[in-house]
Amino acid sequence: MPSKVRLYQRSEHCISRTQISDNALKVLYKLKKEGFDAYLVGGCVRDLLLGREPKDFDVVTNADPDEIKKVFRNCRLIGRRFRLAHVHFGREVIEVATFRGEDAKQNDKQILNKEGRLLRDNVYGTIEEDVWRRDFTVNALYYNIKDYTVVDYVGGMEDHKAGMLRLIGDPETRFREDPVRMLRAVRFAAKLGFKLHPDCQKALHTTASVLDSIPSARLYDEVLKLFLSGSALQTFELLRQYGLFKVLFPATEKSLSFEEEGFPKLFLIKALQNSDNRIAEGKTVTAYFLLAAFMWEPVQMLAKELLKKGGDEYMVYQDAANEVLSRQIKVTAMPRHITTAMREVCSLQPKFNARVGAKPSRLLTHPRFRAGYDFLLLRAETGGADPELAEWWTRYQNANENEQRKMTAPVRNGQNKKTGLKRNYRRPSQNKPKPAE
Ligand code: ATP
Ligand code: MG
Repeated sequence: MPSKVRLYQRSEHCISRTQISDNALKVLYKLKKEGFDAYLVGGCVRDLLLGREPKDFDVVTNADPDEIKKVFRNCRLIGRRFRLAHVHFGREVIEVATFRGEDAKQNDKQILNKEGRLLRDNVYGTIEEDVWRRDFTVNALYYNIKDYTVVDYVGGMEDHKAGMLRLIGDPETRFREDPVRMLRAVRFAAKLGFKLHPDCQKALHTTASVLDSIPSARLYDEVLKLFLSGSALQTFELLRQYGLFKVLFPATEKSLSFEEEGFPKLFLIKALQNSDNRIAEGKTVTAYFLLAAFMWEPVQMLAKELLKKGGDEYMVYQDAANEVLSRQIKVTAMPRHITTAMREVCSLQPKFNARVGAKPSRLLTHPRFRAGYDFLLLRAETGGADPELAEWWTRYQNANENEQRKMTAPVRNGQNKKTGLKRNYRRPSQNKPKPAE
């Protein structure tokens, strides 16, 4: 492949060593001292150029994994598909990779499956070859520790300035080689506010369905990155736009087609927005809460179907959640503690309807009460539950014991004994949802 290198001198770019983690610098200098080439590469260079703090620092070198291991005592070799070195400094890990080679056909160390997906890739090479393995031009910039230049073989710097995500090589081929690149395209577009190059957009439309060939465990990892990176809402919109969301969450996508007057999309949008807001405020977000929001509409639809045959609401919601989750984990393998929490959040929802007697105080002590209550608030805000019910629970939690007893005492006049609701109130969750006023 043609490689016209362009070097950006220190005076031509904004990357300063003060922005680079001390441990990454140690690794780079140590490799250099041992006579190897050493570069920062990928997302960290891209982010440093934007003045953003990189999530992690990736180093690339001409030393092979065994040589890297000899240089660092605190080093572990990992990976099968890509053999890599992890250099450990307490909690920080610096990933050190060897330049990868290029020629797929000539080397049996590189294996493609029948859809053109790369399964094994352990051919070492030079920096010129390594470039072509990278996904986007802006992810293929190398910061050289020897002279602090940025090395660019693919016009990545120009694209970076233009805020453009452009695939290296033919977009469709690159997506077929590794369909996760499609999710990365969307993730970077949302996170960095970059545009997707028109060729990349076209290839997304034509190749989206290939995503289902990715193992469910890897898809789950990517889903977490997509929705916990602070741009979940935009990510969601882009995934839907390119037909990727329906591959990741088929039942949710199907439920979205039933939306009326903005339901249930509004609920999901609000959940995503809240999550982004929390991240922006430096608060933590739990994956299971957001994932439960994805599952909620399909769970609710199925539960309503099952309830026609009767049964305890809580148990029916549990069954519905089990059913919906067991289908979802075939696509995105979620760990058990996550699915358990999701099921609880969903099946607690009908329990919030009981406001009389001992049930409310029992619900308050449920380990998942807080998440369930937050979920209820979200439903109430978006027309899926009675706002008065949510407000009652807000008051109930903050009330003292005496007040709580009064709040849950059965009032017979004009009220339903079981729920404490006025007789003529029809629960929106059991009827066509009404927008909040
Ligand atoms: P971030 O860490 O901010 O999520 P990143 O671009 O650093 O983004 P990593 O997964 O850390 O993403 O990967 C580091 C680099 O490795 C990328 O910038 C890219 O050059 C290369 N890379 C990672 N995954 C792929 C892939 N699926 N296909 C091609 N290149 C990849
Ligand atoms: Mg990275």
